[in-house]
Amino acid sequence: MTHRIVIVGGGAGGLELATRLGRTLGKHQKACITLVDANLTHIWKPLMHEIAAGSLNSSADELNYVAQAKWNHFQFQIGRMTGLDRTSKQIRLAAITDEKGKEILAERTLPYDTLVISIGSNTNDFGTPGAAEHCLFLDTRAQAERFHQRLLNHYLHAQASTENAAPIDVAIVGAGATGVELAAELRNAAHQLVSYGLDRIQPDDLRITIIEAGPRVLPALPERIGEPVAQQLKKLGVRLITGAAVSSITEDGLTTKDGEFIPATLKVWAAGIRAPAFLADLDGLESNRINQLVVRPTLQTTRDDDIFAFGDCAACPMSGEDNRNVPPRAQAAHQQASLLVKSMKARLKGEALPEYHYKDYGSLISLSRYSAVGNLMGNLTGNIMLEGWLARMFYVSLYRLHQRALYGNFRTLLLLINDHLGHTLRPRLKLH
Ligand SMILES: Cc1cc2nc3c(=O)[nH]c(=O)nc-3n(C[C@H](O)[C@H](O)[C@H](O)COP(=O)(O)OP(=O)(O)OC[C@H]3O[C@@H](n4cnc5c(N)ncnc54)[C@H](O)[C@@H]3O)c2cc1C
Repeated sequence: MTHRIVIVGGGAGGLELATRLGRTLGKHQKACITLVDANLTHIWKPLMHEIAAGSLNSSADELNYVAQAKWNHFQFQIGRMTGLDRTSKQIRLAAITDEKGKEILAERTLPYDTLVISIGSNTNDFGTPGAAEHCLFLDTRAQAERFHQRLLNHYLHAQASTENAAPIDVAIVGAGATGVELAAELRNAAHQLVSYGLDRIQPDDLRITIIEAGPRVLPALPERIGEPVAQQLKKLGVRLITGAAVSSITEDGLTTKDGEFIPATLKVWAAGIRAPAFLADLDGLESNRINQLVVRPTLQTTRDDDIFAFGDCAACPMSGEDNRNVPPRAQAAHQQASLLVKSMKARLKGEALPEYHYKDYGSLISLSRYSAVGNLMGNLTGNIMLEGWLARMFYVSLYRLHQRALYGNFRTLLLLINDHLGHTLRPRLKLH
């Protein structure tokens, strides 16, 4: 029987893996590749803050899994994984219902010979009282679109009102890449909305505050990236509060551990990650305190050679570093997907599996149309700092590389042209 490789999670890593295995092993019937995802379409997660601000229209950028599977010789099954039976080698998928609760697909099981879990992570609110009820998150397209809709509703309400429009206070918890990039995109959106005639709320009346528990902006990145980013945020009128942990959140705002109250109409939690809760108790697989599956350098789970995990949902040791894991980043998911293409081929031939070594190629932070800052790291270039237009070009190229892995060179070029045409044919900001 053909070897069955089931990949659960078609995100930054899983979709690249399914596509590349489909084009090689699937096309030549050397293995049957099945991708399972809870949704029908894929959006690259690092774009979520742009969807939230409205600078990216998610409908124009989504990839349909059914069509991608057909074009790249793999199978697609919609479904949310909820459990695992390692003895019978089957995963369990939850029933799917429509918006009225009517069952479309019953609860099912899916057999595998090799299972790869790449279901990503969610924001970790660390159980902060009020966060789940009052904050918006940017983990999924639906959440990002909800933020955008709420922002737009304030503008539409102000426009139709006869009274003076009240300022909008946006509080972002976390000065990591997501929080910082969202703040800059929102500042851009505030200017764009006025340029389209929604001018009752002037740009300065969208008041943005970032609250960070660490001592500085971008605490996980080198200080020489954080410093120019902090300066740029200041120029954009973004208020930055560092060294302040948020202790509770209500409808009206946030309170820090020091007792400071920060009023906020819109509250976004953009700090920390944790893997989906069901991984913590997945038929005896080892997991860590943030629910990630613990894997070896081959990306096999520690207790089952037939189950691999990678990307944000996996705790993969960083080679040569004590107690440090590979960071939850798209570039790591991409590198691991590339390694797993080789691993799956080696596995079918009964050869030894390659080991993963994280290679940090640097970090790029986009500050919307205003600037971009980052560093590039490579054997030839060393560690170089980039800022402005050049950094922006490298930042954009990261998404183009993801598209290239999914669509190939020619179709990525067509998408590039289409996007440029779209900029002249569509409004610069999503206004619905
Ligand atoms: C706003 C934002 C900006 C970011 N910017 C950057 C950046 O600039 N650079 C960078 O390197 N990283 C960035 N990241 C982090 C990056 O997005 C992640 O590290 C990366 O997406 C992880 O890839 P993944 O394949 O592990 O998971 P994901 O890309 O999150 O994909 C997970 C997939 O699994 C599916 N899924 C989830 N649960 C289930 C289930 N139970 N059953 C079936 N399917 C399931 C989801 O639908 C999704 O398709 C950003 C993240 C955010 C939120």
